[in-house]
Amino acid sequence: TRRVLLEERQERRQRVPLSVGLKSKKNKRVLVTGGAGFVGSHLVDRLIERGDNVIVIDNYFTGRKENVIHHIGNPNFELIRHDVVEPILLEVDQIYHLACPASPVHYKFNPTNVVGTLNMLGLAKRVGARFLLTSTSEVYGDPLQHPQAETYWGNVNPIGVRSCYDEGKRVAETLAMDYHRGAGIEVRIARIFNTYGPRMCLDDGRVVSNFVAQALRKDPLTVYGDGKQTRSFQYVSDLVEGLMRLMEGEHVGPFNLGNPGEFTMLELAQVVQETIDPNAKIEFRPNTEDDPHKRKPDISKAKELLGWQPSVSLRQGLPLMVSDFRLRLFGDSKINGD
Ligand code: NAD
Ligand code: UDP
Ligand code: UDP
Repeated sequence: TRRVLLEERQERRQRVPLSVGLKSKKNKRVLVTGGAGFVGSHLVDRLIERGDNVIVIDNYFTGRKENVIHHIGNPNFELIRHDVVEPILLEVDQIYHLACPASPVHYKFNPTNVVGTLNMLGLAKRVGARFLLTSTSEVYGDPLQHPQAETYWGNVNPIGVRSCYDEGKRVAETLAMDYHRGAGIEVRIARIFNTYGPRMCLDDGRVVSNFVAQALRKDPLTVYGDGKQTRSFQYVSDLVEGLMRLMEGEHVGPFNLGNPGEFTMLELAQVVQETIDPNAKIEFRPNTEDDPHKRKPDISKAKELLGWQPSVSLRQGLPLMVSDFRLRLFGDSKINGD
């Protein structure tokens, strides 16, 4: 059996072209927390392609087993249902720490960012693993500097409705840096800007998934506020490339990982109309409290030190997400004939 498995593994490796510069020196043991989520599952695909041994920890809070189901049965892949708020003992070389209740609907009252990050740093310390934190552009709050560079300290309301997420990630960054300085852990910090793509949660309240699902269901696109607030949207494969370069590179960060293309929410609604349904209606709704007015990454640092920049534009990436959403929304119902 062992020989058959080895042959299968070898064959798999030969089939899949590896991205230049990101080959593993040896097969690493890599832990991905939150690996059954949107970004995590795309990262797992790349790590498995590269020949790494991947362990996913996920409590399926917002993630889904379906996102990684294609790896089940692969001896290089292991899926553990576990909440990172509880300690865990594992032996790994690298930890990509993504576990987080990531959408506005889910992130209130949750200790994952603080306690979960502490546990994963404790694990990294015990086994000497390199630790990558997926932080967020939200650490800049409602920014007074535009575009945001990593040197900007942010403008966050510590007691607002969003602060559990913003401040949770700020604490996570602090903990990572303390373990780096105090315990000599090799850490990497990514500040991720709005990212979209296939496997995004259908109803998690984020703007791209909302608009796409609404247009496909023939519901009006819900624009919050006046729709003039801006965001920059990054396609998920660009982000995964950036995360892997950061992990394999020599720089701690923080690094902004995002697409500098900036759109107002009304412009985004227009692109969704062009891509899915030109007749889709727009409906204005009151905005949430403390909503940042504009956001756009300055990615000079990642360009220079990681040799990274996004390559997929919104108009190229959106159709790829739309196909996935169409399948998930209507694929089964078509088969069932309703
Ligand atoms: P996601 O919700 O799809 O993934 C998060 C995963 O973590 C889910 O699978 C969820 O079940 C899991 N999880 C949550 N709490 C957990 C816990 N206590 N224990 C174990 N697993 C837990 O979201 P995503 O978009 O893939 O985000 C991944 C990471 O990237 C998050 O840390 C998020 O903060 C960060 N990020 C994402 C974006 C974005 O636009 N997608 C932007 C900035 C930062
Ligand atoms: N931890 C863990 N797995 C490990 C090592 C530690 O989950 O393999 C947890 C541990 O339970 C603790 C946290 O990580 O709650 C921080 O660990 P550390 O050793 O840094 O702190 P200490 O236990 O000394 O307070
Ligand atoms: N938004 C919107 N309609 C929606 C969902 C969100 O207009 O159906 C707006 C929201 O007010 C914010 C922007 O889109 O200004 C981005 O929201 P999202 O929750 O996707 O990301 P974040 O606020 O974390 O950047």
